[in-house]
Amino acid sequence: MGIDLIGLLDEFGVEWIDEGANTQAGWINVNCPVCEDDDFHMGWNLDGDYFHCWRCGGHRNEYVLQRLLHVSYSEVQKKLNEFSDRSFLLHDLNKKKVGNVKKIELPGSERLGELCREYLEKRRFDPDYIQDKYLIRDGGISGDYCFRLIIPIIYKGQVVTFTSRDVTDEQEIRYKQQPLEEAVMNPKHVLYNLDNIDDNEGWVCVVEGPVDVWRMGSNFICPFGTAYTDKQILVIVQLLSKRISRSFCIFIMFDSEKQAQIIARQIGSELNVLGFTNVYQINLESKKDPAQLSDKKAQKIRKQFMEIVRNK
Ligand SMILES: [Zn+2]
Repeated sequence: MGIDLIGLLDEFGVEWIDEGANTQAGWINVNCPVCEDDDFHMGWNLDGDYFHCWRCGGHRNEYVLQRLLHVSYSEVQKKLNEFSDRSFLLHDLNKKKVGNVKKIELPGSERLGELCREYLEKRRFDPDYIQDKYLIRDGGISGDYCFRLIIPIIYKGQVVTFTSRDVTDEQEIRYKQQPLEEAVMNPKHVLYNLDNIDDNEGWVCVVEGPVDVWRMGSNFICPFGTAYTDKQILVIVQLLSKRISRSFCIFIMFDSEKQAQIIARQIGSELNVLGFTNVYQINLESKKDPAQLSDKKAQKIRKQFMEIVRNK
């Protein structure tokens, strides 16, 4: 998702729904301010960040919001800026095509420099362990990925593309993705950490981003932000249908914010529809994401998952 519309609506006290007559998965609904409806016909697409009214059609975001929030155009722009999440720009990659590339040359160097090490240590990670397990690299001090951790995305033993994480927290783009025309696979068509699933555990857990995965460890996978695609759901289904047993569990543990929780619920119901019955949405204490948990708490959650699987 790019825009936290729910946060914006809540600030202005605008009523919205995600269940009921005129709703569907991937959307939330409000009363349409354009055709003056009072039956929640105006949908907001959570993945694409656009409005569409089932009665009067599509309208520009600014136009709808001006009427919905009763504010000026410039105020709408200010608010849209405030509620935009720039952390995951993978958001609109879904429809683009990858190039005819066979092998990825990862940028940067294997040796993690001071800035990268400090970034990881500040977040209570052991840089050497994370590098060894996830093959991260240092983007260097110049070039397209400077002051970034290079995060390879590995699928079936092959690097298919990479993303990179700003280590200064000062660059505007937090996660910068390899251009698709240079990639073997679109990152929105795979999940991160798929190669670290241990079949014997009997469960997988979906979290939002790579840093969450690093905290939680093996059997945790992520779609790079909450804006998942149908292809990613399909990957989960294909992955699991081979090893599925009656007791196999899928956990979904997104950040505690409301919009993330709604999307978690939607992923859960899509998996339900596809025949996975043991899907659990895990809620963390307020204002936390998995990356912020202590190692002890992360271990505790892993143990709880195993317990749930054992009791199936
Ligand atoms: Zn309308």
